[in-house]
Parts: sequence; C-alpha cells; structure tokens
Amino acid sequence: MQNTLLHKVYSTELFEENGHRAIEMLTQHLADKLQEKTGKAIHWNDPETELEFWKDFLEHGKPEELFKSITERTTYVHHPHYIGHQVSPAAPITALTGMISSLLNNGMAVYEMGMSPSAIERVVTNVLCEKIGWNADARGFLTSGGTLANLTALLTARKAILKEDVWNAGTSSALGIMVSEEAHYCVDRAARIMGLGEKGIIKIPCTESYQMDTSVLEEKYQEAKAKGITIFAIVGSAPSTATGMFDNLEAIGSFAEQQGLWFHVDGAHGGAGVFSKKYKHTLKGIEKADSVVIDGHKMMMLPTITTALLLKNGMYANATFSQKADYLLTDSDHEDWYNSGKRTFECTKTMMSIHWYTMLKFYGEEVFEAYVTQLYDMGAAFGEMIEKHPSFALAVTPMSNIVCFRYTHANLSQNQLNELNAKVRQQLLEDGEFYIVQTKLRGWHYLRVTVMNPFTTKVHFQNLLDKIVLLAQNLVSSETTIC
Ligand SMILES: *Cc1c(COP(=O)(O)O)cnc(C)c1O
Repeated sequence: MQNTLLHKVYSTELFEENGHRAIEMLTQHLADKLQEKTGKAIHWNDPETELEFWKDFLEHGKPEELFKSITERTTYVHHPHYIGHQVSPAAPITALTGMISSLLNNGMAVYEMGMSPSAIERVVTNVLCEKIGWNADARGFLTSGGTLANLTALLTARKAILKEDVWNAGTSSALGIMVSEEAHYCVDRAARIMGLGEKGIIKIPCTESYQMDTSVLEEKYQEAKAKGITIFAIVGSAPSTATGMFDNLEAIGSFAEQQGLWFHVDGAHGGAGVFSKKYKHTLKGIEKADSVVIDGHKMMMLPTITTALLLKNGMYANATFSQKADYLLTDSDHEDWYNSGKRTFECTKTMMSIHWYTMLKFYGEEVFEAYVTQLYDMGAAFGEMIEKHPSFALAVTPMSNIVCFRYTHANLSQNQLNELNAKVRQQLLEDGEFYIVQTKLRGWHYLRVTVMNPFTTKVHFQNLLDKIVLLAQNLVSSETTIC
C-alpha cells in the first residue's frame, strides 16, 4: 500500500510517541485537579466563544496542542470543587481500559467480536446480581446508559407480563406503567417511545419528602383500570435524580406482586449502594425487583458510558427483541449468554465490561463500598451544614450524595429568591471555582450539589457556602438586579 497518509495513521512509532505525551499530559491534569493546583472546577466559555475557538483551531491550531486544549477547555470532574452532575471522576485505571476498548474495537454484538469482554460481562453482571440478593436464575448485561437500559427493561416487562405480543403484532390497546412524578425523564420518554402516550404514564404523586406516595398506589391503579388502561409495570427510583430520595422499594415490590406487575428499579444513580453495608438500607426491597438498572459511570467510578441491566429471571431478556413467539428457552435449549447483542438495544457497543472487571481485579469489590459510603457520608455532612446555616434552606434531608438547597433571605419573596438563586448559580458557573447545578422543586429554584469526588471535604463545602453568601449579598445590595 502506497498511501503515505494511511501509513502515518497506523504508524506504531507515532502511536507510542503521542501516547506517552497524552499520558504525561493527563497525569499532570489529574495531579493539578485532584490536588487543586489550579483553582477552577470548570473552564467556562459561552457556546459561541467555544465554537469560534474550535473553528479557528482546525485551521490554525498545532496538532501537538490538541489534546491539551480539549482537556483544558472543559469541566474538571476530578476537582474536589466539582460537585455538580452525577458523573463520576473516572478511576484513572479505567482511562487505560477505555484506551484498550477503543484500540481493540471489538464490536461485542456477537461472541466472536469480543470473546474476553463477553465472558467478563457475565462475570461482572453476576457479581451485581448476587449483591442484589438474587439466585442463579438472574442474569445481566451491559448497555449504553441508564436511559437505554430503562427503555430496554420496560420492553422486557411488556413482553413478559402482557398476553398480547406487542413486539410482533403491534397494538391498539391502552397500556400503561406507574412511576413517581419525580422519576428521571427518561422513563417518561421510554413510555412514549413504546407508544403508551401520556395517558399511559400513570404519575404517582410524591410525599413531602419527594418519595413516591405508596399509599395511593391502589387508588391510582384502579383509576387507570377504570379508564381501560392495562398496566404492566411499576418503576421505583433509587434514588430519583433531582433530589436523591429513594422510593420505598419494599412497598412498591409488594404492590407489584399483588397486582402481577413487573417491578423495575431505576437504580442508575444509587443501585451501587448494594455494595455499602452502611447504606444498603436505602435499597431495602430491591431483591423483589424483576429488573434493576445500575450506571457504572455514576456511583462506580467508571467512565461514561456503561450501564448494567439486571434481571431476576434472565430468561426474559432473551424475549425482549425476539421475533419468535415461543422465545423462552426450554431446558434442553442452549443458553447463548455470550451473544449479548440478542439482549441489548445496541448492535455494536464498546468493551465496557473491562472497566468493571478491572476495578474488581485491582481493588476488589470493597472499592465500590468505599466510594458509595464516602460520598453518601459527605452528602449527609453537607446537609447538616446547610441545616445549621441561617442563610440557607434544605429542600429535604438528603438520603444520598445529592443535596438540594437554596439561599434564603427574610425580606425577599419567593420570586425574588428564585431569581436570586438562579443568578447566584449563573455567577458560580461563569466564575468556575465551583461547579454546582440547579433544579426546580415545587416552584422553588434550588441549587443542587452531587458529591462525586471522594476528596471533597467540609472545608470545600464551607468555602462554597461563604462564596454563595457573598455573591447573594452583592446581588441583593445592587437592587437593580433583583426586582
Ligand atoms: C442518570 C439517571 C438516568 C439516566 O442515565 P444515563 O446513563 O444518563 O442515560 C436514569 N435514571 C436515573 C435515576 C438517573 O439518575
């Protein structure tokens, strides 16, 4: 082959040279962020500025500065001041497994295109199933994100529960699922994709503490039934994204059992709590679930994107996308667990199982216990600090590492406070020293923190609160900004 450009693309010397440079640069980046050598948690630019930079870079930038520029001009999840969205500061070793997955590029759809990662996938999902407390009938597989996993679980539920074979025959029946009003929006989206429509999403109101009000389940179920809706599944959030509050899985599980519904637990964020002796209680009743979703890239220190979808009875996973009506394996059939593409939405996916396995092999499953426990402890500690602080109010006492709070001021109305908190958050973003997010709950604008970094301490929290008070006071005193 004569083409010198293609020779250059596959040059092993260049790979080694660029690789060493990238590792050195990332090591420096990690050291800077973890040890806070640079003050910022986010390098904020408005989208138009960022777009201009990258248009210009393609023309004029130096290739050897590319990786560094990408790394710098972004959000630093390894900085202890990164306490925003629920993405984990990836364990550095998983950057290496990410590289291996990218380079080997086995597509995983069939066993032959990913033999080691397919077998490894079975091992890691077995560990998760066991932790949930299920027996040997349980199976799991990995897929690209909680959103896709929730959709897949609901498709499995529909096939498993209904007599009608919607996958093959389509349907004009009114079908529905039950889910709390605080559930992640992807459950709503999944239901709509499945053709349930708005009326098929039976939203269960929450209690004062943003947890599904299980006392109204029977009433809501009968109400839907009277309207001719056949409900096939109920979804519990563990926890719900906005507030980090866990639904009562025990009560939902009993209700599902009583009505013959599929019980799905969206544990994208908190499912990893099965590893924590101290916080396992948040998931009490999870073993009653028919399916559970756990995101590796949230509370398990793995890189985006890797999610486990686990089923109490693995057989049902074979049915989800099956064209055959008699999909369930008989005893004499061979269970081809190793062809994960039959069960996943994706055809091609990454070798994501190797991230999980590497963590287990290098650090043991205690590493997941250590991580979850540390972060939930810090969520509680931050909650206590807010509670004691005269200038702040909590949305609810946190049950996890997610904390919603707002700045308060006796002389300001709800509208003024909402505006004030939104402005504070915008100033924090543009300033970049801390990265936190925001959410709306029952008409109030809240600041929202998710403690994702095991090195975030109370001192960091105190500095954040001091900074917010200062920003808010400045905004209040320049009356023009708050009207
Ligand atoms: C994050 C989250 C999701 C979505 O998962 P992705 O991996 O981002 O697709 C779903 N449900 C809950 C409860 C979540 O916290």
